Amino acid sequence: MDPLQNRLSTIVRKVEVYHPSPDIDLLSRAFEYASRKHEGQTRKSGEPYMTHPLEVMDIIADLRLDVASLCAGLLHDTVEDTDATVEEVRELFGEDVAFLVDGLTKLNKIHFNTREEAQAASFRKMLIAMSRDLRVILVKLSDRLHNMRTLKHMSATGQERIARETMDIYAPLAHRLGISWVKTELEDFSFRYMYPDAYYEIAEKVASKKRERESFIREVIQITTDLLEENGIHGAEVSGRPKNFWSIYRKMRAQQIEFEQVFDLLAFRAQLQERPQCYEALGLVHNLWKPIPGRFKDYIAIPKPNGYQSLHTSVIGPYQERLEIQIRTYDMHKVAEEGIAAHWLYKEGKATPNKDDHKFAWLHHLMEEHQDNEDPRDFMEAAKIDLFHDEVYVFTPNGDVMGLPSGATTIDFAYHVHTEVGNRCAGAKVNGQIVPLRYELQNGDIIEILTNPNQRPNKDWLKHVKTGRARSKIRNLIRREQRERSQQLGRELLDKELKKYGTNVRAAEKRGHLASAVEGSKYSNVGEMLADVGYGKAQPDVVVEWITGGETKKADPAARTPIRDSVNRIVDRVTGRKRDEGIVLDGIDGIMVSYAKCCNPVPGDEIVGYVTRGRGLVAHTRGCPRVAQMEPERQIPVSWASEVREQETRRPVNIRVYSADKPGLLANISAAFTRADVNITQAHCLTTEDLRAVNTFEVLVSNTDQLQHAMRLIEKIKGVYRVERT
Ligand code: MN
Repeated sequence: MDPLQNRLSTIVRKVEVYHPSPDIDLLSRAFEYASRKHEGQTRKSGEPYMTHPLEVMDIIADLRLDVASLCAGLLHDTVEDTDATVEEVRELFGEDVAFLVDGLTKLNKIHFNTREEAQAASFRKMLIAMSRDLRVILVKLSDRLHNMRTLKHMSATGQERIARETMDIYAPLAHRLGISWVKTELEDFSFRYMYPDAYYEIAEKVASKKRERESFIREVIQITTDLLEENGIHGAEVSGRPKNFWSIYRKMRAQQIEFEQVFDLLAFRAQLQERPQCYEALGLVHNLWKPIPGRFKDYIAIPKPNGYQSLHTSVIGPYQERLEIQIRTYDMHKVAEEGIAAHWLYKEGKATPNKDDHKFAWLHHLMEEHQDNEDPRDFMEAAKIDLFHDEVYVFTPNGDVMGLPSGATTIDFAYHVHTEVGNRCAGAKVNGQIVPLRYELQNGDIIEILTNPNQRPNKDWLKHVKTGRARSKIRNLIRREQRERSQQLGRELLDKELKKYGTNVRAAEKRGHLASAVEGSKYSNVGEMLADVGYGKAQPDVVVEWITGGETKKADPAARTPIRDSVNRIVDRVTGRKRDEGIVLDGIDGIMVSYAKCCNPVPGDEIVGYVTRGRGLVAHTRGCPRVAQMEPERQIPVSWASEVREQETRRPVNIRVYSADKPGLLANISAAFTRADVNITQAHCLTTEDLRAVNTFEVLVSNTDQLQHAMRLIEKIKGVYRVERT
């Protein structure tokens, strides 16, 4: 018999074990058709091409998929690599098979070359394909698994690329679907081609003590089995094995340790009949071997998102060796190994996921939601898939996908869009709501950056960026602007100084005096010198001496304005931005701002900005008890602009005055307010039986200085015990 035909029969026998009534005729016809189409083609290994579709079919049988999937496995490369068409496949094998083959063909055209560019779009396509029919992705996973098993025949560059893609996309996908045996195998193969040195080192070390390890494993299995038996837990199956290479390597890398320092290299597993037995068994194990604190996890009570259930613990076993032990029921084990595939139900010979199964609710949701909906935004929103735990995918308002490292903020996003967008970024809306600039992007967010031509990056942004690109752009701009500001400041300071000699910078520049001053100095150009004056590193009067050569007589030194004062004023002028709202938000000017009613902040108070949902930013006083209860991530540092103190805007404040109940006192208090130029809008007086009074005033003040002035005046009034702001 033909060896390929022979292989087919073996696989069909495997299918018959789990499938009640497979359409063997259809499978044979698919095999014949694919064989004819791939006739004469060989794989890189030199074997006939048909070995590949057959082995893919075998993996599909291991996943216990339906006949259409098995056919699709046989036919998956025909449309792509031969003259076969989807129409022909549809005619010969029906709609179901044709749909899968078509989906697989499209999927093959997707290449995940660069993670940053093409991937987001490809990822979306893949998820959409998967959501239409999960079998597409399961067959694709089988295809990939066989390609990984035979990767040694590829060129070195091909190996590297395919391995990386598998590690990035397919292993996480298998994990998300809960098919751990596929995930583990994909990971270890990828590892082997991505980091061959590390892989073979670990492989060698694991192999070197193979014999000792195996006898140790047997010993632990025996002890555990006996322990369970003796305590009335019958029918348990205990197994043990070294952990897979990739997880050992990951541990070494994460903890910066050598192979020899990796504990719990061995993982044991006990499968039991009933769920309560799992907890019983755990108690027995902990009683026998000391558990390592913090390592116990109850995934039975709280299953993982992919449906995985098990108890995990690590103990110090015989010979002081650390062991990881997993305890679960046979059913749970099946789900753990087969994931989604453990949930296929064979109704009328066709596999469908069990709709009542909550464990894959996310998937059913995904599939139903997007049956006829292709809007990627809705899709991402619903998917919330943690395939790419180190990346986050967000959308521009136009629906373009952008991939950023997870933890990236709206500032990173702005710089990702364009440097100028980053530099002018004044605020951000996420899904229509204003958020602080340091908001961390979540999968599926729609990000809109609000820009303002007067906006400049500020130093604090550096604390809130994740990408190197944003970081270096911000640093550059801050440095450049600092230099420009210093130069301008230096120019103004110098101007002031020169005016005392009846000249100014412009004139000195025209006559070449500045340039000649630079000549004899350490500066290479005028700008540098001006910047140093601005930074305060060079004294303006010294520079003037260079310029004038010390010949001109100085004006009366007493007439000089105190330098600190003029510096401050100029600094204010040079750095002051337009401030409409009276509040300077740290890096976010021009956002809707209101004042909290609970604490009525007044210019001069220490304030905190709170980003509300839909009402912009609300300013509270730092001591406001409400602030303490608010989400810290929605708070942003804000401060008052210095000009605000001079402004005429008045803010309401409540003041309580405790006093004696004495005639004329109220009039004196009112007079004090008037003297401090404070208007009273409301007054409320309450006398107590012991001849005391509590007077509450609502007044309008411009700033805290004025408020304190008024309060001090009231305190001085005879008969007033205490004045407080409420
Ligand atoms: Mn293939």
